[in-house]
Amino acid sequence: MIVRWFKAWSLKRAAKKAVTKTAATKTLRVHLRVFFPTRYKVATMLDNARSMLKPADIEIAEQSYAKVTDGTRLQVVEFKRKSDMDEIKKRENVSDDREVVVYFVNATIDPYNGASTRGSYKPWIIVTTSTSEWTLAHEIGHVLGLDDTKDSTDRLMTAAGTHSITNRPPDLNAYEIETIKKSKLLF
Ligand SMILES: [Zn+2]
Repeated sequence: MIVRWFKAWSLKRAAKKAVTKTAATKTLRVHLRVFFPTRYKVATMLDNARSMLKPADIEIAEQSYAKVTDGTRLQVVEFKRKSDMDEIKKRENVSDDREVVVYFVNATIDPYNGASTRGSYKPWIIVTTSTSEWTLAHEIGHVLGLDDTKDSTDRLMTAAGTHSITNRPPDLNAYEIETIKKSKLLF
């Protein structure tokens, strides 16, 4: 009797497990290119981004990591125009146009903490040394289709810069979570 009950219970459990597994954890694929030493550890910035994406059932898969130490390092300081970035991204060996390349650089002209494409294919992100530890997560938010918000400086997508976040960790609201889940960049 106990055996039969246990069998039924474990079958039920297995079924439940299978359901949660197929229930849509999606993946964002990122390639990391470090042109300039970062103020915060790349691993810390990635962990922060991962914790932000968790409520949306999105994981980050690190596809590749490279420190770039050749002469291009100096040019990177002038990353600015979208067309230049698209050109630089073209040289990357990514297997799918949905994969994001993140460039850690010294600075941009004009000066930003970060910059990124918005919800488009061939996405890229720039994170500069003037960054906060939440800049990468904020730029990933843009890449996945979110806009800046003037609502509150406790929000990840604050237009005031992630330096100004007063109540850590910052928040994504329900609408933002639903929006990023629908991103076409996810695998
Ligand atoms: Zn922004």
